[in-house]
Amino acid sequence: MPPKSKSLIRFKTEYIVPDGHTNTSDHPHQVRHKKPDLLTEMVPKTAWGSNVRDHVKASDWDKIKEWCYKRAGFNCEICGMHGKLQGRKHRVEAHEIWHYDDENRHQTLLGLIALCPSCHKSKHYGRAIAIGDDKFVRKHIKQINSHWTWKQVFDHCSEAISKWQERSKHNYKLNMDYLKEEFGIDVPIHRDVVELTDEDHEHIKDMDKYKNFD
Ligand SMILES: [Zn+2]
Repeated sequence: MPPKSKSLIRFKTEYIVPDGHTNTSDHPHQVRHKKPDLLTEMVPKTAWGSNVRDHVKASDWDKIKEWCYKRAGFNCEICGMHGKLQGRKHRVEAHEIWHYDDENRHQTLLGLIALCPSCHKSKHYGRAIAIGDDKFVRKHIKQINSHWTWKQVFDHCSEAISKWQERSKHNYKLNMDYLKEEFGIDVPIHRDVVELTDEDHEHIKDMDKYKNFD
């Protein structure tokens, strides 16, 4: 299953990318001339358990990951480091890049990037909160985006939570055409519509407490 074309997401030289690294809806047409900032994001609650690896065969996912790692030279495509330097087992991990169209409620796969375990953890702020690693994530974001102030880090994390709270109240239609375009894999989408319970609403609201850093 060789890749049919080059990826949309290319970093090492100058390209126009639709903010391939994270929250694409925020920066639709940035021209990147240097390493991207590390931005966190949170997958809406209604989209949990419905990602690429849930939609492709395990053997295809292995090939996709390997292709992604190789393309990146087995180094993190954000910070340039790798997991062995962080005392981790794996050098890099594959991260899915999503675009959320909040008006039409479409969630579209734009590509995949290889990230070191620390940058990957930082991408998923909600998961980091759940396991008590949110402080680590904020420190890592501050370190990688060294031109940011702490206020910018806090604001960015708060905003990620607010966005998650809003998106989690809705169901997004999943689009993985990227897999067809890039790898020739036809993916039947099987995402169930999630009806939020009172408990879910409470959980979403409860995340407010992580938006203050006093
Ligand atoms: Zn990294």
